[in-house]
Amino acid sequence: MKRRNFIKNASLTGIGLAVTTNLTSCSEKTPETNNIIAVANKVSLPLVIATWNVPNATKKAWEVLQTEGSLLDALEQGCMVEEADIKNQSVGKGGRPDRDGNVTLDACIMNTKGDCGAVVAMQNITHAISVARKVMEETPHVMLAGKGAENFAVSKGMKRENLLTEASKKEWEEWLVKAAYKPIINIENHDTIGMLAIDKNGDISGACTTSGLAYKMSGRVGDSPIIGSGLFVDNEIGAAVATGMGEEVVKTVGSFLVVELMRQGKSPQEACEEAIKRIVNKPDSNHENFQVGYIAVNKNGETGSYSIHKDFSMTKYQNGKNENKQSDYYLKQSS
Ligand code: ASP
Repeated sequence: MKRRNFIKNASLTGIGLAVTTNLTSCSEKTPETNNIIAVANKVSLPLVIATWNVPNATKKAWEVLQTEGSLLDALEQGCMVEEADIKNQSVGKGGRPDRDGNVTLDACIMNTKGDCGAVVAMQNITHAISVARKVMEETPHVMLAGKGAENFAVSKGMKRENLLTEASKKEWEEWLVKAAYKPIINIENHDTIGMLAIDKNGDISGACTTSGLAYKMSGRVGDSPIIGSGLFVDNEIGAAVATGMGEEVVKTVGSFLVVELMRQGKSPQEACEEAIKRIVNKPDSNHENFQVGYIAVNKNGETGSYSIHKDFSMTKYQNGKNENKQSDYYLKQSS
């Protein structure tokens, strides 16, 4: 019997519970046993988690899953909520520009089979996540950059728009007076969307979309569209997504690291903590001056989140309810 059918049958007949009692006492957990445990623990699925306080986005994604939409539909539509919200100045339309005044977007998406798509440094198209999905589904490539990504989006029927709103333009002009590039913890980064979802069958996918760090150098690309850094999904194990100072996440291949740590048996919480420690324990780490946060989910439906500084949070939508929870963090002594 195929794994998925077995799990389905187990959940229907109650076999899952009985089987799990035996399996949990085994010291070695395989992905299959983990999945059965999820059934027995009655983790309520679907489940959606996202970086920061984004209740509208998680709600949208969960509703799509509830109404039989696919994981990718849910993630795409959830991310689109924030991309279209001009009050969110770190994602999509209304995002803060680079130092030359151009809003450039990065996004990626990864499915249950390990397929992925990404766009980097793309201008003039609000829904970067939709373009990333189309790169995955409709091209032989995994990543398109700049003008190529924009032209591809237009060829797929998306319309060009000016993404620089008056509010973001005004802030940028004020910034230009001194033009000092100094990322502000939790402010410039706030609301970049990393979203992970599990559907009713226990399958996992993820997505990430951002306008990147405010006032970055022209052409700068962070971690968010880089598979393994900003996002990684292994449907047998779990998934992770990052936010914050992308350069530091890239240097430690952060999201892949979190998933690999879960593969080795760590809980999502432990894995996020370990991945943050990799950053702060580097020689000459400058972590007092930047934020990085991870969220993760495993095949059991357990979740975790952790950051360097305080005030990072995760939104979880489960059982028809949103919950935004402050993450535990590394620099407790400085709070
Ligand atoms: N990680 C993003 C980047 O470095 C920024 C963020 O999450 O706010 O571009």
